[in-house]
Amino acid sequence: MEYFTQPVSNITKLLVGVKRYIINTKTKYQRLIIADLYEYGKSLILDDLIQITEVDEVYYHELLVHPLLITHPNPKKILIVGGGDGCALREVIKHPIEKVILVDIDGELVEICKEHFKDINKNSFNDKRVEVLIMDGKEYVEKTNEVFDCIILDLTDPFGPEISKELYSSIFYNKVKKILKEDGIIVTQAGSAFYYKEVYKNVYNNIAHNFRIVREYSVWIPSFGYSCCFIIGSNIYDPSSLTISTIRERLRKRRIKSSFYNEYVHKSLFLTPVLK
Ligand code: SAM
Repeated sequence: MEYFTQPVSNITKLLVGVKRYIINTKTKYQRLIIADLYEYGKSLILDDLIQITEVDEVYYHELLVHPLLITHPNPKKILIVGGGDGCALREVIKHPIEKVILVDIDGELVEICKEHFKDINKNSFNDKRVEVLIMDGKEYVEKTNEVFDCIILDLTDPFGPEISKELYSSIFYNKVKKILKEDGIIVTQAGSAFYYKEVYKNVYNNIAHNFRIVREYSVWIPSFGYSCCFIIGSNIYDPSSLTISTIRERLRKRRIKSSFYNEYVHKSLFLTPVLK
């Protein structure tokens, strides 16, 4: 059996059985591998960190997107920074939004994911409400004149490669706030609070410096080997204050089909402590 070593922390590793490697290439920005893993199916690995797998990406992407968009009473304009695999996009376009702009630094990655993950991202890039820009998310946030209801930061890990590090900083979140409407909300994936305590605390504090309401939650992602954390920043709407009936009503009205997220999961997210 061939194994891929998933680095859970600098010390803990997860050995993952590999059926076969499909692509192993270097883009302008990162080492990109697509592998067929015995227990996780087709998977995207960037700079030796598992990013998405066919079997468990749904937990990550439903929980990255729906708590945020359901908390907003009427999300119309969405920004995704990162998310070049198209899976967060798949969840966003389930909502009756008007426009979603996806900004990813790596055009080669986007083209490869369009081809190799279309069965997983459901050709989300083809939706007529989608606009894809290939550039550094930091530069986009600094230059755009657009303003958004919700902003999703679906980047490589805060403990991972250099290319996304600055997009977890307080300065960056302050710039994000400037392109967010008064009642806008942001979410970021924040890696592992358990294995990268200081890194996680830094991301949390950076959001707390910029937003009145900060809410954290997590979900176990088997292929990551840890509970992946998410942090929401908001000045008006509080994701933890929604009632079960409000969440249920918004899901019904928006005809959202999800396989993991629902009104009970939403409430439980903010009642369950993040393991640190
Ligand atoms: N879903 C994955 C996970 O579970 O962590 C992460 C999503 S995706 C694969 C990470 C994306 O962030 C990649 O497509 C990468 O190209 C993008 N990215 C990294 N740094 C970026 C930057 N500075 N600006 C825009 N996109 C960036």
